[in-house]
Amino acid sequence: MSHKFYDIHYHLFDLSHPNLLAFILRDDMITGESVRKVMRKLPLLLKFVPLGAVNFFSGKIAERIKDFIQNDAGKFRNLLSMMENSIEYHFLLADYYIRKEKIFCSGDEKLKFNKIVICPLLIDFGFKNLKNSGCFYDLPPAKPVAGQVADVLKSIRFYYNYDIIPHPVKEGELRLVKSSTSKEDKLFEIYPFLGINPRNYDLLEIKALIDKYFSGYENDSMPEERYKKLFARLGEVEVNLEDLIFRKKEKENPEYYSYIFAGVKLYPPLGLNPWPEDEPAELDKVKFLLSECARKKIPVTVHCSDGGFKTTPEADYFSNPERWIKILNQSSFKDLRINFAHMGNRASGSREWLNTIISLAEKFENVYTDFSCLTPEIEDYKLVAGIIEKNMSSRLLFGSDFVINLLWSGSYNEYLKNFLITPYLNTEQKLKVCSANPEKFLFG
Ligand SMILES: [Zn+2]
Repeated sequence: MSHKFYDIHYHLFDLSHPNLLAFILRDDMITGESVRKVMRKLPLLLKFVPLGAVNFFSGKIAERIKDFIQNDAGKFRNLLSMMENSIEYHFLLADYYIRKEKIFCSGDEKLKFNKIVICPLLIDFGFKNLKNSGCFYDLPPAKPVAGQVADVLKSIRFYYNYDIIPHPVKEGELRLVKSSTSKEDKLFEIYPFLGINPRNYDLLEIKALIDKYFSGYENDSMPEERYKKLFARLGEVEVNLEDLIFRKKEKENPEYYSYIFAGVKLYPPLGLNPWPEDEPAELDKVKFLLSECARKKIPVTVHCSDGGFKTTPEADYFSNPERWIKILNQSSFKDLRINFAHMGNRASGSREWLNTIISLAEKFENVYTDFSCLTPEIEDYKLVAGIIEKNMSSRLLFGSDFVINLLWSGSYNEYLKNFLITPYLNTEQKLKVCSANPEKFLFG
């Protein structure tokens, strides 16, 4: 396949997607000054914070919030401004700013790219805080991940049908115009991963999900075949929530939703136990899902750090890559193509999880790890270089964790640029992690 840059770990979020309580309680949101800072960061969400915490603060809180947002929270405002946009504009905006700064057009000849493959990872946030929350409006109408599916597809369709250009008359404004660029010539190729938490479905529903979104994948014999089928659907799918819930498109064409998703995203800290051996019914669901991923050669990305969105006290236990030793050692899962995200990063600096990933990679040839959100600064690649030396050069994947990485990074552009110019990886190493390896992970 041709010369392309891959960002294997990307998030398309707007404010309706995350579990907001898990979002504001992220450890990385609550650094240093702890709760006080959270309050300053997300004033709109004050009402979600326990009353006791609110009472703890003086009446000056409103002033402080204003002051912080205006003067102090540049990165946070950046994140919010991206998340506040209509989801339809997301990829168009990311594309516009990358082309504006000509990110991939200068420097090392081998690191010039005119094609960027991004994999937005959907996260199955389940029923958020509705169940047993004591809220009056506590009954969700439908599976929440459906809303995200509709949004990501809308955003992709918009991207291939429109362009953003500087406004011809109003200076400093942008304008949306019908695209004059063919799909082949657009900067991005967008292959999302479907977020599934088996706990949010029964076994029949999981079977139905796999049939719906991954029908026919088992017949792809070559990576090229998988790629072509996914590319063909890019921007062609037009659905809304109503279609998804009432299966309107499927009634006309049972294959309508196939080859939209390139992979599956698992997120243990939201209560996904990768091997719930004490709960036979749960175990059956997980077994089914993973065996289908192995059989249909669907790549899986599993969140693997002690940060992120957490809704269970067992988040760390579920996220520990040790849980996967037992799984991958079974013959039915040994070929599972799996990416342990964030290199098993832990806030304490412990390398324990990373070492587990490295030993899994030694044993299983389809085990990968991405360094998404760990490399906002040029120097952060020292760590990546150290891992490459541990025989991991063909298992490491570039990932940004955009938009969440805006908490640490000035922009998507900045994150990309730092990778391209960091002196800690040589050109060959860079090409492997941003092109050859992810291509293999994605398409086989
Ligand atoms: Zn992520």
